Amino acid sequence: MSMTMVASDGARQLLLGDEIVGRINRLGDISEAPEHLARIFLTPEHRAAADLILSWMRDAGMAAHLDAIGNVCGRYEGNRPGLPCLMLGSHYDTVRDAGKWDGPLGIITAISCVADLHKRGKRLPFAIEVVGFADEEGVRFASTLLGSRAVAGTFVESVLGGKDRAGITMREAMIAFGLDPDHIGAAARAPGELLAYVELHIEQGPVLEAKNLPVGVVTAIAGATRLAASLTGMAGHAGTVPMALRRDALTGAAECIVAIEEFCRTDPDGLVGTVGHIDAMPGATNVIPGHVSFTMDIRAPTDSHRRRAVADIVRRIEGIAKARALALQVDVTHENRTVPCAPWLKAQVAEAVAAEGFAVFELPSGAGHDGMAMIDIADVAMIFVRCRGGISHHPDEHVEAADADAGARVLLRLIENFRPREKAEPG
Ligand SMILES: [Zn+2]
Repeated sequence: MSMTMVASDGARQLLLGDEIVGRINRLGDISEAPEHLARIFLTPEHRAAADLILSWMRDAGMAAHLDAIGNVCGRYEGNRPGLPCLMLGSHYDTVRDAGKWDGPLGIITAISCVADLHKRGKRLPFAIEVVGFADEEGVRFASTLLGSRAVAGTFVESVLGGKDRAGITMREAMIAFGLDPDHIGAAARAPGELLAYVELHIEQGPVLEAKNLPVGVVTAIAGATRLAASLTGMAGHAGTVPMALRRDALTGAAECIVAIEEFCRTDPDGLVGTVGHIDAMPGATNVIPGHVSFTMDIRAPTDSHRRRAVADIVRRIEGIAKARALALQVDVTHENRTVPCAPWLKAQVAEAVAAEGFAVFELPSGAGHDGMAMIDIADVAMIFVRCRGGISHHPDEHVEAADADAGARVLLRLIENFRPREKAEPG
């Protein structure tokens, strides 16, 4: 059954898409300030958003509750109570000055799909759970994926002592929100409760738009390595030190940055590298910079590819530093592994995409998602929905209602045709 119909007045009705857009707008109004969208973990507006999502879950026929870390959880039973679930979800926190779609689209779409089943009185041979994760962006405390880590049972208790910019610890913020920090363990699920985790999310990149496709099948969430580099040369007077005698750390850094771009640009397999921050010391117009530090963020669709690339890049900048008589220090500051989408589950997403009449197009996710934590407890797959200009984490973030509808149709078809992974043959 197609969910797109032509109304008698000729206007195109997007049965799921219109409802989704309406709810995206309602949730997008819940913010710390009216002039921009920010919904930060454990704030009053975060709580108001949770309550609204819980009410939508109940309207869709789900039993819904707030779990021990502040995730909103809805459960739609299968054809008998207590069956393992297909878990769907995304996050309901935002960055500061955010768009409305990053996170909520996955939650709201999943709720609309369940509501559609509920309206038809349809029960499946498994339960469906929808989770709105409380904190994915990690804006408030210096740790991300707090909601999904709690569900996966990998939440690290020491995070509770971390402070926000106002000096409030996560433990204190949880109590103020009405949660008990000593019971976060209660949010953890047993692996046998989950058949799979599927997340629908905006692409946050321009690839689907360039391909003229509303949806895409995610192959993997790319791992990332972040490094801090510092170059030390010799500061000196901008007027008195001849060019040939300089050891300018900033021109050395400039050469390194261009070399990193060049290296990534010529990689045929999706390597991306970014220098996003640089500091030059002493930072005066008339002084040759003696010391420069800069960051690197390197991502690739596989871990082996990324590690090889990081080693090559470090070798290149070592060569540049040596040629310019600069001292180089490089440290890895953060590393997370690539999370591959499970082939059996990805194949079912691709089937659903094809069955809705769209070309099946596979792409990696360059951004991190809750699946990075959920992989510890379940097989993971993702559906990407086209967003305008690839823009995200910005008020201009936008999804067309027709694309929201397409995403919902694919997700609904996936749910209705979902087959759990076949158990391995014994012996
Ligand atoms: Zn997101």
